[in-house]
Amino acid sequence: MHLSVIGLGLIGGSSCAAIRGAHPDWTITGYARSIATREAALARGLIDHAADSLEDAGAADLVLIAVPMGQFRDVFAAVSRGRHAHTLVTDAGSTKGSVVADVESVLGAMPAWFVPGHPIAGSEQSGLDATNAELYVDHQVILTPVTSTAADAVDTVTAFWRDQGARVSHMTPTRHDEVLALTSHLPHVLAFTLVHALSDDDEHLDIFRYAAGGFRDFTRIAGSDPVMWRDIALANQAAVLVGIDRFADRLTQLRTMIASADQDGLIRSFERARAARELFKALSEQGAQHVTESHPSVFQVRAGGALTGRIRVPGDKSISHRAVMLGALADGVTTITGFLEGEDAIATVQAFREMGVVIEGPTEGQIRVHGAGIDGLKAPQAPLYVGNSGTTMRLLTGILAGQAFNTVLEGDSSLSRRPMRRVAEPLGQLGANVTTSASGTPPVVVTGGQPLTGTHVDLTVASAQVKSAVLLAGLYASGTTSVTEPAVTRDHTERMLNGFGVPVRREGATAFVEGGQRLTAAAIDVPADISSAAFFLVAASIVPGSDLTLEHVGLNPTRTGVLEILKLMGADITVLNPREVGGEPVGDLRVRASALRGVEIPASLVPLAIDEFPVLFVAAACATGVTCVQGAEELRVKESDRIQSMVDGLSALGVQIEGTPDGAVIQGQGLDARFRSAEVQAHEDHRIAMALTVAGLRAPDGVIVHDCANVATSFPNFIGLARQVGFALDVRA
Ligand code: NAD
Repeated sequence: MHLSVIGLGLIGGSSCAAIRGAHPDWTITGYARSIATREAALARGLIDHAADSLEDAGAADLVLIAVPMGQFRDVFAAVSRGRHAHTLVTDAGSTKGSVVADVESVLGAMPAWFVPGHPIAGSEQSGLDATNAELYVDHQVILTPVTSTAADAVDTVTAFWRDQGARVSHMTPTRHDEVLALTSHLPHVLAFTLVHALSDDDEHLDIFRYAAGGFRDFTRIAGSDPVMWRDIALANQAAVLVGIDRFADRLTQLRTMIASADQDGLIRSFERARAARELFKALSEQGAQHVTESHPSVFQVRAGGALTGRIRVPGDKSISHRAVMLGALADGVTTITGFLEGEDAIATVQAFREMGVVIEGPTEGQIRVHGAGIDGLKAPQAPLYVGNSGTTMRLLTGILAGQAFNTVLEGDSSLSRRPMRRVAEPLGQLGANVTTSASGTPPVVVTGGQPLTGTHVDLTVASAQVKSAVLLAGLYASGTTSVTEPAVTRDHTERMLNGFGVPVRREGATAFVEGGQRLTAAAIDVPADISSAAFFLVAASIVPGSDLTLEHVGLNPTRTGVLEILKLMGADITVLNPREVGGEPVGDLRVRASALRGVEIPASLVPLAIDEFPVLFVAAACATGVTCVQGAEELRVKESDRIQSMVDGLSALGVQIEGTPDGAVIQGQGLDARFRSAEVQAHEDHRIAMALTVAGLRAPDGVIVHDCANVATSFPNFIGLARQVGFALDVRA
């Protein structure tokens, strides 16, 4: 590989040093404006050759441009003249909209071979002397490809940064500039301005002499290169101005609070900032862990002894979301235990913090939500970003439809492709003003201040999220809101509203709620997720001699399809200690090994067990006779095509299974099922990974399951709990 680096300062020089270590066999050409810099880089062994011109430097396999933003356009123009047909080009500039505009002004359009990028690493030092081979280790690099960028170019540039120890993520150039304006450019502007303002004072030497460590930390970045920051402020002018205006407004508000000795206002403002700072710390620690402890992605499992013991699997995600939402709208303090601390539920927490709700935690699954009351949400300062959480976006849309203020909801690139019109349209029937992009996807724009009128809504899609959005909007509507669903879906929202003191009436497929009511805070012990419990229910059913108890499992009838299907198949499952928590039925499940038989799965149970089918396929493979699943076409559009993934996996283990457009036909191997040893793929789908691992419990010579890394995010302690109950499971990275 022939790498060419243009700009041999902190950023370019550090890349040369890191690549030298990672790929001693690569050839590195370098170019900087001054001959002295090129010679110094050669003398230090950072580069193999110094190019004589920018055009010359463009003739490589991969070119990195790391020059000040103000120089980028001319450098790019020269590189595009000198490049070979196959040369890929990337850059390290701190703003991306300007880079795209520069490239378009040179070439007329963004070419497939250019991948804009930005390493979020650096220091106030610049120049070749600041070069550091470790600069990018555990740091983010954001790539901002556009639609015309070639996928394999993105892959090559991603690998280039990963080889230097960085984590790579993707954004649009606009989103990048908005985010960086607030997290990097604005802080630099503030640090420069603070030091500047203080140095206007004749006494400034005294001020600086007595300044404490906090002042030094806060102003450290005012030691950065003024030319570089002038270029950045101008290259990202629009977004930086938005940031400055937002900051100026807040500062004015704070000034008023101090002037009028508004104690509550000050506490609220500082508490909110501290909570956001804590979340930021937790997120950056999580991010760092993600890299250093890379999650095991290969599971090796084989038939072993019986599965025994008592375990509690993680909390239910749907209930975790709703507990925070209703807690935020309630009067009083809601305590939540057993909260699932995944990224999606955290997105809900953060969204309410943005709307002024004080939320403590989560710490070890515990959260305290200081409810703002049904009418107490405040307008967020910026669009609410909910990451990958569809539940947050859809349910929140219902709540926001009833507010006096306007809001915009945004998500990551995958959520930004999911359908949102299905929630916008029914809310419109209540009088809400909710719009989506032309293709019906996020961002979702909710115009507040619309009077909502209770009405009847007939849903065309069976979706618990859409039903919930309508019911939540109904809290803000005059009179009665009712919603009829075409097929039964999860009713966690209805039950939890009851738990918070707002009755939701049910008549057949229709739920009714009255507007104008207040919610009362509650204590919610989030039930363990039955979808996670399902892996252990099937495992203990198919491993002879097993006797396992799963504690505090949510037994909401809209979620227990898996129990009913397993019971139809002859599973031995008993519900112990049934009880009710926050409106939800809960119990301990004792499961013992039993002789399963094949069944025709009733259509009515299919939607109630949709997430559990991968592991139910494994139960079917160990049953006597044929199992037939129909009406489950949704499985084809989940994280992977789950029908195909299971057909491929189980066939490799020697199971006779045939996929159909909406299900599968599985010939069970009966009580003595012995699966063949094989290596199978989970296709980065956590449920496929765990289902195939359960199948491995009937493979005397073992099964190797690849692509399991994201089991860690959906079911953080799966490996530990599986081993605890007796899975013969080894894992590796
Ligand atoms: P630097 O001042 O340390 O190095 C810049 C290099 O570019 C020098 O070697 C200089 O000789 C060379 N150069 C300048 N004009 C040139 C031209 N017309 N032709 C060829 N070479 C030229 O700067 P840096 O800190 O390495 O920053 C480089 C880029 O990376 C900038 O666009 C900056 O926005 C971005 N960036 C900087 C940081 C940071 O913290 N320093 C972080 C991320 C990204």
